[in-house]
Amino acid sequence: MKVDYHIHLEEGPYTHNYLEKITQSMEHFVPLPSKQYSKAWFAEVVAQAHRRMQETEYSEWWLNFYLERAKQRNLKMVGIVDHLYRFNETSDYFHTYMDTTSSEIGAIQADWLGCVMNRSLSEFVEFIEGQKAKWKANGIELKLGMEADYFIGGEEQLQALLQPYPFDYVIGSVHFYDGWGFDNPGLQTKFLDYDLLELYQNHFETVKRAAASNLFDIIAHLDNLKVFKHRPDEALLRDMYRSVAKTLKQADVATEMNPGLYYRYPVKEMCPSDTFLDILVAEGVPFTTSSDSHFPHDVGIYADQIQDKLKESGVKEIAVFDKRMRQMVPIHG
Ligand SMILES: [Zn+2]
Ligand SMILES: [Zn+2]
Repeated sequence: MKVDYHIHLEEGPYTHNYLEKITQSMEHFVPLPSKQYSKAWFAEVVAQAHRRMQETEYSEWWLNFYLERAKQRNLKMVGIVDHLYRFNETSDYFHTYMDTTSSEIGAIQADWLGCVMNRSLSEFVEFIEGQKAKWKANGIELKLGMEADYFIGGEEQLQALLQPYPFDYVIGSVHFYDGWGFDNPGLQTKFLDYDLLELYQNHFETVKRAAASNLFDIIAHLDNLKVFKHRPDEALLRDMYRSVAKTLKQADVATEMNPGLYYRYPVKEMCPSDTFLDILVAEGVPFTTSSDSHFPHDVGIYADQIQDKLKESGVKEIAVFDKRMRQMVPIHG
């Protein structure tokens, strides 16, 4: 079954670059009538951006672009997640576990959080739940997910944040190392402060704690620490990979094949790497498939290649979820 379980509706910060990406994405669905780069065309671009801000990301109008692409790419199941840090209800959690106070990176991260955290979790949940019937009528199952950051020590607080909502699944992610958001392009020089092998060892320990925490159905992009190409020789990581795989298997938690770093970041490689993938498959860890798209035109991107890659690695079934119950379905068919 062709599924995309990792799709975002919006994510700041709201840079000039973001404006460009969002208007470019809409042009895949609503071609503008005027000649490109003419003054009339530019006015149409601005009007599109304005409509997008008026309608907001939690509107049927915006989600319809996602539906259109999902149909074009023959997806049968689509899961929307937004990052937990988008939601005001989670302010305490992130201020506790992210570094938002140190003079070095704290001020930058506090600023970042202030930009990206601007919606309400209950509004997101209500919106997605309210769209499920329409998607079903269009032949696609829409799922309510969440991508939640895991922090060692924050388990109870996270549990309390997630507990009130009827999620179909929760993805656990590790985007932070000792409070530092290591996938933030503006903070990447911080990699130079660490011994890489130790950094990977500690990162994977956190990933294992996330897997064993009982909080998550899926652990996202297991080796995202490679985002800016800071990675030791993979031969030195094999034992760590195996240990992560065994922990996932034991905790009965799935992972995903995620192309986000392949098409959006310097490393240009999917998660997990080929070496890691082979180890995860050998250990019997269940997989789901995702795009990590942040814009509607990327929904289902590389879905065919990912299916083929998993199949070549020996994966026959993928994991799908309903109200946090996992089911394994044939990868093709
Ligand atoms: Zn992520
Ligand atoms: Zn994501």
